[in-house]
Amino acid sequence: MELTLYNSLTRKKEAFKPADSKRVTMYNCGPTVYSYAHIGNARAAVVADVLFRVLRHIYGEDHVVYARNLTDIDDKIIKAAQELGVPIEEITEKYARIYNEDLAALNCLAPTMQPKATDHIEQMSDIIVELLDKEIAYISEGHVLFDVTKMKDYGKLSGRKLDDNLAGARVEVASYKKNAGDFVLWKPSKKDEPSWNPSNRFPPGRPGWHLECSAMIKEQLGDTIDIHLGGVDLKFPHHENEIAQSECANEKPLAKFWVHNEFLNMGKDKMSKSVGNVVLVHDLLKDWDGEVIRLALLKAHYRSELVWSDDLLKESKENLDHAYRYKFAAMEFQKINTGTLFGFDISLFNDLGTPEAFKDIIFHSGFVSQVVQRIDKGKDLSWADAKALDEYINSWNLLGLLQKDPEEWFRGKGKDGGLSDGEIEALILERTEVRAAKNWARADEIRDVFAEENIILEDGKDGTTWRRG
Ligand code: AMP
Ligand code: ZN
Repeated sequence: MELTLYNSLTRKKEAFKPADSKRVTMYNCGPTVYSYAHIGNARAAVVADVLFRVLRHIYGEDHVVYARNLTDIDDKIIKAAQELGVPIEEITEKYARIYNEDLAALNCLAPTMQPKATDHIEQMSDIIVELLDKEIAYISEGHVLFDVTKMKDYGKLSGRKLDDNLAGARVEVASYKKNAGDFVLWKPSKKDEPSWNPSNRFPPGRPGWHLECSAMIKEQLGDTIDIHLGGVDLKFPHHENEIAQSECANEKPLAKFWVHNEFLNMGKDKMSKSVGNVVLVHDLLKDWDGEVIRLALLKAHYRSELVWSDDLLKESKENLDHAYRYKFAAMEFQKINTGTLFGFDISLFNDLGTPEAFKDIIFHSGFVSQVVQRIDKGKDLSWADAKALDEYINSWNLLGLLQKDPEEWFRGKGKDGGLSDGEIEALILERTEVRAAKNWARADEIRDVFAEENIILEDGKDGTTWRRG
């Protein structure tokens, strides 16, 4: 099965081919760790995780190297540490830990590596020296700057012309810049700010943001990587400048594929701290299972905007309740493990078409539901029945969903108040099971849950029906 991806650099959908199928490399610009991640940040991470899973599926788990960095030195981090009067590491370590925990709750696999900017000062210095040697970078008033007029194809990713930048610059150009579009590679540290002195070729100070990623990619993954990811807001200036630094220093393309996710919006506005409309992953996880949030994030194609809403979460929860009911039935009766996917990969591998992939799953679930009814009636399953169940679960799993034990799912954070229809049906199924197994303690527990929720069961010759009292 071929994977195609939309490449922002060529502005086309292209067949993906790694340079080395035994070491497929991907890099995602990670968080600046000074506060909690919001659900827009999580969208970028979940999209990258789906791609990571798809690549592992195609090339094998040990053949994909995924680096997601931590920006652990930055104005906002310094400010947060100064305000609280604590060392910088206290802030960065705390929020890196929370970020990783929140993403793990959304079933994001741990990246293969999580390099830190402050561990790569030497490598940043090497790039600066290379650019100074080539006279592409220059030193001015304690800064090292990249001279954008020295790069012929500067602007190729975002499509911005240098002239646009220069003519369109409404803000006053800093006195230390030769051209309005020049960007900082290295800057002086103020008093009380961390400072490094890695080379006698340029003054002491601290790195510019763009340079960090170029240094980490080169050190951890190589001069040219297969895929570089990030939100569309990073295309310019961040990714454009990563390309400028790396390609001028290394004289090789930085990334073959550039994959950018669109924004998650609240109404019409991008979710962002500066607008003040953020919903934190950490807070949402108090009310919703991480899988519900993950599914909600994948309901739109990654290149479309996603408008966040409670309804999106409710709908996702309903979808998963049904799926877990089928998984519960499958766990008891599944006889085979095919590892196959009923063709839903055609949608998913077409530029990560998650909405189409979910449509395929819902379509397939019509068949699965009939299989589950046959199970409920105590009938034996055919091989085709067992295969249908197995493929259904495999397909959810490839998306990083339906990974929990169904009993844990229904006991846990189905938290939206009362039991949903799917949950009730799953509990009835479990009740039949545990009674057959003479597990009276669990049968009593289930009876109590129904009593508490005022749900009335009627056992008839065709099975159990239920209604809300
Ligand atoms: P930041 O911590 O702001 O650098 O963002 C981390 C990642 O989240 C980057 O890839 C951003 O492009 C992405 N991002 C930030 N806000 C949003 C949003 N509202 N929707 C989608 N992605 C976002
Ligand atoms: Zn970056």
